[in-house]
Amino acid sequence: MMHRARKRFGQNFLQDSGVIYSIVAAINPTENMHVIEIGPGLGALTRPLLSNLDRLDLLEIDRDLVAYWSQENLKGLNVIEGDALKFDFLEWANTHPANSGLCKVVGNLPYNISSPLLFHLVSAAHAIDEQVFMLQAEVVERMVSKAGGSEFSRLSVMLQARYDMELVLEVPPEAFDPQPKVNSAVVRMIPRQDFDLSAKQWHALEKVVAAAFSQRRKMLRTNLLAFADKLSLSESELKARAQDISVERYIEWAKIIAT
Ligand code: SAM
Repeated sequence: MMHRARKRFGQNFLQDSGVIYSIVAAINPTENMHVIEIGPGLGALTRPLLSNLDRLDLLEIDRDLVAYWSQENLKGLNVIEGDALKFDFLEWANTHPANSGLCKVVGNLPYNISSPLLFHLVSAAHAIDEQVFMLQAEVVERMVSKAGGSEFSRLSVMLQARYDMELVLEVPPEAFDPQPKVNSAVVRMIPRQDFDLSAKQWHALEKVVAAAFSQRRKMLRTNLLAFADKLSLSESELKARAQDISVERYIEWAKIIAT
């Protein structure tokens, strides 16, 4: 198919067969699995995935690509035209046939929407078994960075509170056409089994983490002033900076604040 890559949709199409093979292996498609691919593009991942699945749902925003996949009329392929930022992944997951395989959301994501999309997916996390995404390498570094690391940030805490995550593969710009300006990486995200925050506690986590990281160089004594009454911070915590506090400690604070 002739298709000019559209920058506004973050279109960088995978070309490298070794990288494609590794991503498909990481997704590990099996017949009865329930999978949705965000942004199939020209099908670098779609075709090898479909050859191992009974059914594959595609979510694509570009009308030309939606038309292309619809007219291909491949067995088991279900094409949805839509914006992943607005798509109801919970409703999609809930159509998962009982007693069938794992429920996965996968894709080589448009980098311009990756953070909002990751947060949008949090609301469906309890109904999803696994997410495998290609993202900008810098974002993946922040996602998996541990407390004390220079990349440890708000994104790290919020996503690690909800998912176990691992870097699967680093991918250079040459693997794509057109080539992106940045390095890319594949990340696996598995919703945490021990996640037990209520909506109110999650909201408190968002607030306390935003406050803690609001001025990275300042001590928590300053950044968490608004929560001082509720959180009895130790002397060393008062002197610490946001990036020194573990995810589990932030979760404890969120639970205290929400009471
Ligand atoms: N999967 C293909 C590959 O690996 O070669 C294409 C990946 S390309 C980086 C991103 C894809 O996401 C494109 O097909 C683009 O049209 C689509 N896309 C961009 N924004 C989207 C959105 N908000 N919702 C759904 N799909 C989107």
